[in-house]
Amino acid sequence: MNPFDYVRPDDAAGAVATVARNPGAVFLAGGTNLVDHLKLGVSAPELLVDVSRLPLDEVRELPDGGLRVGAGVRNSDLAAHPLVRSRFPALAQALLAGASGQLRNAATTGGNLLQRTRCPYFQDVTTPCNKRDPGAGCSAIGGHHRDAAIFGASPECVATHPSDMAVAMAALDAQVRVQGPEGERAVPVVEFHRLPGDEPQRDSVLRHGELITAVDLPGSAPRSVYRKVRERASYAFALVSVAADLDVADGRVRNARIALGGVAHKPWRATRAEGALRGAPVGEQAFRAAADAELAAAEPLSGNAYKVPMTRGTLVAVLRDLVEEAR
Ligand SMILES: Cc1cc2nc3c(=O)[nH]c(=O)nc-3n(C[C@H](O)[C@H](O)[C@H](O)COP(=O)(O)OP(=O)(O)OC[C@H]3O[C@@H](n4cnc5c(N)ncnc54)[C@H](O)[C@@H]3O)c2cc1C
Ligand code: SF4
Repeated sequence: MNPFDYVRPDDAAGAVATVARNPGAVFLAGGTNLVDHLKLGVSAPELLVDVSRLPLDEVRELPDGGLRVGAGVRNSDLAAHPLVRSRFPALAQALLAGASGQLRNAATTGGNLLQRTRCPYFQDVTTPCNKRDPGAGCSAIGGHHRDAAIFGASPECVATHPSDMAVAMAALDAQVRVQGPEGERAVPVVEFHRLPGDEPQRDSVLRHGELITAVDLPGSAPRSVYRKVRERASYAFALVSVAADLDVADGRVRNARIALGGVAHKPWRATRAEGALRGAPVGEQAFRAAADAELAAAEPLSGNAYKVPMTRGTLVAVLRDLVEEAR
């Protein structure tokens, strides 16, 4: 591990100013991802700015019934919060499907959004990887890419985003609140993470020095659901996941909000499936047509083509269950 300095500012403004003026500085929250990267040599910052004890650890109600989740709220606290469980069950389910109890006790909302890909080449510094070392090449495309993206990949990078929490937040129309050297801004979760394009080293639209302070969840989605398909029943990242919220009236879909995980460089909002569902009579036929509409845009590689039928099956099953539970 490279030597680095460590500071713990008292407030968000101090943390932002410290990182902004030092190109080699990064924020440190729970450390469950960043510290692994320091040990593996994936990342070698000069300065760690610890934000884990800033007063960003509250869940507060918003006037529209939604919630503001502080960036420092631990994943386990967020999953157990009564208002999250009742108003946004998909988020609680997604959090509980991630990592392990110990990790969730340390991991934060801000850090979870910014965790980096689990592509094995990204973490193995002896192999070429455009995300870790821009211009070096992508080892996954011609190598092991079983976990790779089927939507929105580029010739530069086919990695997926690993967060479960972010997929639920994308379906729930959450907004990321950010404080930077030039002030505050809010970014929808669906626009927060990037597709790789020709800059796969940039995971998100966050600029250097910008601190995530909170995530806003609008309204409520008391019937929303998150389902994760993985190789083991626990302690494994998603091969495919689905977060969904369905509004049904008089036997027809009024509105659908769907995000997919494990299939792209970002939580993938399934807008084609949503469009196909809107106004359709609920039932197997409409659910299959919606899944097919989305998956028509899939571009799998030889080693990850299994994700196409897996996504189709998971999405149809989730929609079916949502309608059954509403009856
Ligand atoms: C063995 C293992 C299994 C796991 N399994 C899963 C899983 O199944 N599903 C899943 O979703 N996750 C899983 N995880 C990942 C885990 O959820 C993340 O490591 C964790 O959420 C990261 O949060 P953290 O607070 O520890 O972030 P840190 O490691 O402290 O930081 C991560 C990144 O976020 C940046 N950062 C942190 N806070 C802020 C902020 N407020 N503003 C701006 N930047 C910030 C840091 O600079 C760093 O780049 C697993 C991790 C491990 C080690
Ligand atoms: S898929 Fe992306 S992260 Fe994986 S080796 Fe290629 S460039 Fe690196």
